[in-house]
Amino acid sequence: MAAWQRRRYRGESICRARYAPHVALDPPPPVTDLDWSPERATAFGTRVLELYSSFLAELPDAPTSPQLTTAGVRAAVAQDVPDEPLEEDALVAHLQTIVDNSVNLGGGGFLAVISGGGTVPGAIADLLASGLNANTGGWFLSPAASEIEGQLIRWLADRFGLPPGAGGNLVCGGSLANLSALKLARDRAGVSVRTAGVDGQRLAFYASEESHFTIDRAADVLGLGESAVRKVAIDGQLRMRVDDLERLIAADIAAGVHPAAIVGTAGTTGTGAIDPLEELAEIAARVGAWFHVDAAYGGAVAISDELRPLLRGTERADSITFDTHKWMYAPLVGAALLVRHPTGLVGSFSAHAAYVEQDRSLTDRGTDHGFEGLQLSRSFTALRVWVGLLAHGRAAYARRIEHDVELTRWLARLVEEAPDLELACPPSLSICCFRYRPAGVDDDAYLDRLNQRVMTELQIDGRVFPSQAEVHGRIALRTCIVSYRTEARHLEQLLELTREIGERVHASGVVA
Ligand SMILES: *Cc1c(COP(=O)(O)O)cnc(C)c1O
Repeated sequence: MAAWQRRRYRGESICRARYAPHVALDPPPPVTDLDWSPERATAFGTRVLELYSSFLAELPDAPTSPQLTTAGVRAAVAQDVPDEPLEEDALVAHLQTIVDNSVNLGGGGFLAVISGGGTVPGAIADLLASGLNANTGGWFLSPAASEIEGQLIRWLADRFGLPPGAGGNLVCGGSLANLSALKLARDRAGVSVRTAGVDGQRLAFYASEESHFTIDRAADVLGLGESAVRKVAIDGQLRMRVDDLERLIAADIAAGVHPAAIVGTAGTTGTGAIDPLEELAEIAARVGAWFHVDAAYGGAVAISDELRPLLRGTERADSITFDTHKWMYAPLVGAALLVRHPTGLVGSFSAHAAYVEQDRSLTDRGTDHGFEGLQLSRSFTALRVWVGLLAHGRAAYARRIEHDVELTRWLARLVEEAPDLELACPPSLSICCFRYRPAGVDDDAYLDRLNQRVMTELQIDGRVFPSQAEVHGRIALRTCIVSYRTEARHLEQLLELTREIGERVHASGVVA
């Protein structure tokens, strides 16, 4: 910049002119504190990588959940924000404390909520994704990243059997994917909705009693209200009952309510049940409803040729939710929102912003994901999934997902054979729900309290970490295998500890 330009720039700069009209004409010297050299980056990065490496080395024998209290963790990670740089040794020690005060979601004994193990190549890819700092909200800010996202989306859509023109994007988890999908359904139901809002009582969604609560939350956020979600009854295997769905839809239509969306769950969070998706697709087509499949968890079986038939009907969906951070093991967070007709995304999420206007006939740039979903600035989420897929290959995922199903069935067999354990429902996908039942005890309310206590004590013990489920109104222990490090020995340990704790709690009479 020439001197006269600099002067002119300073002189006419709005903020300087208004707030500091007498600013010196000498250029301010550079401020480089934040600008680390490649050598510095490598040195620090190496130390962090060493931390990660020793974390991986200790993982097999580490307790799934070390015994941690709120006060203890808060004290351990307490750290004032310094004005000047923390010494590197102190910084690395602080990071080590964070590692030591974490729960090992990736440990083989982690059998609780559906949070996948996190792939190693995915974690390392995150460094590069953050390093590039690509903003996938705009193609021009993330050319390769946006194209990788597109590639991943098309691959997933294909695995789910959607037609070649299908698309979608990655969002921050299944909650947002479900919300986005139901917004598409809502918008399709009435042209004036985007600008004029909804008449809440005139649209209804249908989801089973076992569907995820984010469906209700979506109805709330979309202005329909949670009561717009009709809870369809379930059958003995906790799947949506088609006869009840038909009954509810008929009643709504008779009352002048439009059936806007049918939500089928492919793998319920509680028990892994898969709704009768083909029949739901059929009904949706007949009544003109949007067909959404919430496959946040169970969608992973689409990666296995052997298990994929379990999802039959999903290929007819208008939209699909699939979490990459659940049973696909990718690091948190990520979910694919897949849609049959990508133009719907533009219809529902397009926006005008002068600062990103461009003449595409000249720039030849691709899709701006930020204008096809709720998030504008977006990270390079695809890389952590993509690098995992490339580094492991699809077949490795398929084998592991099949193995998780096999382990779950094996666990169910062990439960059936134990005199003091019983299945709460048949195992489905990688979820098994069972109860501890001492011989001769039939009081269901007591068994609820007993199993709840056993679950809590198992979690506090922390060697293995199950959760609980409510199955047909009764409390059960629940295991969900989504860590690729879980093997038979973890499940054996779980049953051993369950019976040991169960016996003790029952004998003590503490929950009597
Ligand atoms: C986990 C889950 C969700 C919510 O997904 P998040 O990624 O946790 O936001 C929605 N639906 C089902 C069936 C789930 O299992």
